[in-house]
Amino acid sequence: MIVLKTPREIGYLHEAGQIAAEALAWAGRHATPGRITAELDAGAEKIIRDRGATPEFKGYHGFPASICASINEEIVHGIPGERVLREGDIISIDVGARFKNFVGDTACTFAVGEVSAEALRLMQGCREALEAGIAAAHPGGRLSDISGAIQKVAEGYGYGIIRDYAGHGVGTRMHEEPQVPNYVDQSLLRSDVRLEPGMVLAIEPMLSAASPQTRVLADRWTVATADGALAAHFEHSIAFTESSVEVLTFWEKGEG
Ligand code: MG
Repeated sequence: MIVLKTPREIGYLHEAGQIAAEALAWAGRHATPGRITAELDAGAEKIIRDRGATPEFKGYHGFPASICASINEEIVHGIPGERVLREGDIISIDVGARFKNFVGDTACTFAVGEVSAEALRLMQGCREALEAGIAAAHPGGRLSDISGAIQKVAEGYGYGIIRDYAGHGVGTRMHEEPQVPNYVDQSLLRSDVRLEPGMVLAIEPMLSAASPQTRVLADRWTVATADGALAAHFEHSIAFTESSVEVLTFWEKGEG
């Protein structure tokens, strides 16, 4: 069942989204050569708690940290720890914050120092795919508008679309209906949801520079590309109002 939100609830989701966005912006700025990912986790958690929110990922199905930190061929769900970031790495950071019982969810892939042209192009392609998905989202439209727009950009770049994971509704629970796949298939078209005022969706393309096949690492959390190709992940949570779409997790205050 899709839970529609009131304007007041969307306001709370916006506050939660801004907290997650601030923590993400901080973590991204501090993703520099020589840092360990546990430092990014600790700093992001401090921002979330200082704002009166709680880190939504911590304890989620037993996840041990406040952010996901996925490096290079890792796509999502990487566990922060003692790994040292190196010049040329890319790191996908995902943040969830719960505020007034509503969840903000956002992610971005960041360059660690100078990265390869290949990595920059992948990050750009994934960011564009997210932007295209958001641009295609209109009240009165269909879910497949979003999925199709993401797919078109990703395929235009020649990248693999990770199919094992998808965007989702977001509200008092981090994962609500509907699922938001990053491609269109017959199953999506059969149940193609109408986009309505009050819907809130986390849109999150995950792209591979080569094959979209995935594998889960020995830590049983980290998802990586099966062939070791670089991966990127960008995510925003958006709300549908009567006439438009509001990006809840677009960080509005610059340096945080
Ligand atoms: Mg998400």
